[in-house]
Amino acid sequence: MTGAPRPRGAQQDAAADVVARTVRADVRAVGAYHVADAAGCIKLDAMESPYGLPPALREAIARAVGGTALNRYPDADPGALKDQVRDAFGVPADAGLVFGNGSDELIHLVVQATCEPGDVVVSPWPSFVYFEMAARQCHARFVGVPLREDLTLDLAALVEAIRRERPKVVFLAVPNNPTGGLWPDEAIAAVLAAAPGLVVVDEAYQPFAGRTWMPRLAAHPNLAVMRTVSKIGLAGLRFGYLAAHPAWTAEIDKVRPPYNIGVLTRAVLPVLLAHRHVLDGHAAQVRADREPLARALAGLPGTVVYPSAANFLLVRFPGRGGAVHAALKKRKILVRNFDGSHPRLADCLRISVGAPHENQALLEALTDILN
Ligand SMILES: *Cc1c(COP(=O)(O)O)cnc(C)c1O
Repeated sequence: MTGAPRPRGAQQDAAADVVARTVRADVRAVGAYHVADAAGCIKLDAMESPYGLPPALREAIARAVGGTALNRYPDADPGALKDQVRDAFGVPADAGLVFGNGSDELIHLVVQATCEPGDVVVSPWPSFVYFEMAARQCHARFVGVPLREDLTLDLAALVEAIRRERPKVVFLAVPNNPTGGLWPDEAIAAVLAAAPGLVVVDEAYQPFAGRTWMPRLAAHPNLAVMRTVSKIGLAGLRFGYLAAHPAWTAEIDKVRPPYNIGVLTRAVLPVLLAHRHVLDGHAAQVRADREPLARALAGLPGTVVYPSAANFLLVRFPGRGGAVHAALKKRKILVRNFDGSHPRLADCLRISVGAPHENQALLEALTDILN
């Protein structure tokens, strides 16, 4: 019955009333996660890969997808896929694995499996916003330990907070988002030694850093290593994995929705993993372009560029971060504005490393804006 008048007014108000007395107050109080409309823009705001997949690989994916039985639920046990993921990403044979619909879901599952209401989740701060969101949604108490003024890790404060708060979970994004910093191995070892519960090393940007805790899983009974394929060219696929001692993954797996990885993802992943060299090549290109871009940005008037081991750069534009963000947006260049989100990030913009012509367009626009 398209075009039929829909009941409005009174009925909508009635819905708003029921919502107001039914939905959690803390949920109603937060704003919805905002994703900017990117049509026709240079997109440097979400740490996506600027590179699409080559035609031959797209065709192989189409063939794999064509054969899937969409009328059936996925297999309960993604056994073969687990072996392929182990091989492709160097997950130790004796570690357990949990798959997530992106690592966002895994963050949630970790908190759900560990935290009673009021239990504590700790992370250096600012870091990945979803650590705090997942904790709050699970009625856990989130404690963010401020980074130092120069956005490096304050290890003494972090260890002190761990001793004081006895957190169920410590999240360490290594490299850190949104700052790009890579916490020293000795600092991570000190956190593992101090933490009474689970320490999740979130290696979302590992391919750009070239360092990993994955091979050290066996040596640390309270370590989990989490990765995602989002930042290496597959953000749309929604696939992440968490590796830890099987005693951990067996419990975390119990709160996982049984069919969280759909048949399309399961069909496509083996094809992509067999062509890892394509993804690795794109990541290598981004890594090679990062330092020249950082140097060029640092050469602009008044900018501060923070060291980054990730596929983005955090840049401070003292006194005019918000204005620079708006001016770039007007020129259809999207970057992420962190001004106002945390005192340490005043006037800071986070800029993904794009393809060379995108980086060039960014530099030209900024040169124009800042002079
Ligand atoms: C992007 C990001 C994620 C989320 O990855 P998805 O797999 O896309 O959900 C997790 N952790 C950090 C630190 C990130 O920056």
